Amino acid sequence: MKAVFIDLSGVLYIGREAIPGAREAVARLQASGLVIRFVTNTSRMTRRQILESLRGLGFEIHDEQLVTAPSAARDWFAERGLRPWCLVHKAIREEFEALDQSNPNAVLIGDAADDFTYAHLNRAFELCLEGAPLVGIGRNRYFRLDGHFLLDAGPFIRAIEYAADVEAVIVGKPSKTFFEQVLRDAGCSAGETMMIGDDVEGDIEGALKAGLQACLVRTGKYRPGDEHRIDGDFRVEDSIVEAVDYLLGS
Ligand SMILES: [Mg+2]
Repeated sequence: MKAVFIDLSGVLYIGREAIPGAREAVARLQASGLVIRFVTNTSRMTRRQILESLRGLGFEIHDEQLVTAPSAARDWFAERGLRPWCLVHKAIREEFEALDQSNPNAVLIGDAADDFTYAHLNRAFELCLEGAPLVGIGRNRYFRLDGHFLLDAGPFIRAIEYAADVEAVIVGKPSKTFFEQVLRDAGCSAGETMMIGDDVEGDIEGALKAGLQACLVRTGKYRPGDEHRIDGDFRVEDSIVEAVDYLLGS
């Protein structure tokens, strides 16, 4: 193995608490010489906020090791000169400020939390009905915070796809294009890279489809039986600690 991609929420921390042993596991990886990318669909924090919060929890992460789905979305619109209408969390609106958003001709949906109102969803629907491309940040169904399971962007993206009879372009996990983009950035091939995550569909199935190896951890959103929900060969470990033990052969 030459590279490891690591999901953040549910693998390194849950809510505001680091998972026991995760800090030391990351430190061991950092010292190992493996290429590391932290890969997240989190769309409630800017890149800067994510880096600050990880460092606040004691994780050693270098700026260039963090890859987020919202920045991939911004690049997608910028490359095509599109003007997106952004239904995203208020905390990350600043990430899209550099894009022209007047007279929109595209739609972006991320985890917008309380901004998922009927009026906003209907605006997205009408634009898509007129032919605006729909871009989704991830397709995650739900995530876990403070002991609750919360609806993520996936169910809302699916609702607009269904209503307008369109198919969203997904940036972030589980999109194959996204994994390939991260592999290029890391300078590694899929076969020599392992994805570690707690989301059997977003992290594990997505990685396998892109040709990576994968390891599901039984922390975060993991629920017993998740490993039987998808086909394919992948490891299952109790946490990032055991996953790193396996990777480093100890
Ligand atoms: Mg996760």
